[in-house]
Amino acid sequence: MHWQTEGFVLREALYRESDKILTVLTRAEGKCTVAARGARRSGSPLTAAAQPFVYAHMTLFTYRGRCTLDDAEIIDSFHALRADIERLSLAAYLAELCEALAGEVADPALLDLILNACHALARLRKPPALVKPATEFRMMSICGFQPAVDACSVCGRVPPAEPCLHLNQGSVHCAACRTGLEGGLSRTLGADAWRALRHIVYGDAKRLYAFTLPPGALAALTTAAEAFVLTQLERGFHTLDFYKKL
Ligand SMILES: [Zn+2]
Repeated sequence: MHWQTEGFVLREALYRESDKILTVLTRAEGKCTVAARGARRSGSPLTAAAQPFVYAHMTLFTYRGRCTLDDAEIIDSFHALRADIERLSLAAYLAELCEALAGEVADPALLDLILNACHALARLRKPPALVKPATEFRMMSICGFQPAVDACSVCGRVPPAEPCLHLNQGSVHCAACRTGLEGGLSRTLGADAWRALRHIVYGDAKRLYAFTLPPGALAALTTAAEAFVLTQLERGFHTLDFYKKL
């Protein structure tokens, strides 16, 4: 069966002499494994599109559960990412996180988020230090791990006094209310990072990166976002380790 969809290439793996196996987040069917036959042969019409971070209109062919890429027309290749190792490696981590969270059902909000993140990094030149925690918290929220951040989960106070995020429960609480919660770890947010977190989790997707924070608050948000991802998913990411080494 032939079918058409827009898709974003999350990852490539080299296969045989001249092929690639792509992990593609499609608008129609969610995450798909797609063979791009001959994509590494010079002159192949698939070469340009069969690359990580390419968003393309794709014609796919599914037969006996296997999917191959027949044709692709690039919509955006986020070319500027490739000129900047910090932005490129952050995009690689966000794509790996996206792959870990995506299912095989259509999730337009998730596809739009990874496109939005690449756009913010490649074209809007938003600081990677801001794009990273905003994308982590928003992606987790879209994929079933939305933290409850509007009030203290113990006393109900809005805003929480000296807000902290409980990593296992995925809820905020006042620093002094910590004793009312079970085990596990909390990370201190502070008032500014808490406000930013509310904006990230509940705000308009198109304005996700439209905020600024003083350096200390951004550092607190960054620490909380990464710890939240690693705690909730109970795994690490090679691409994250690489990004942090830069
Ligand atoms: Zn409280």
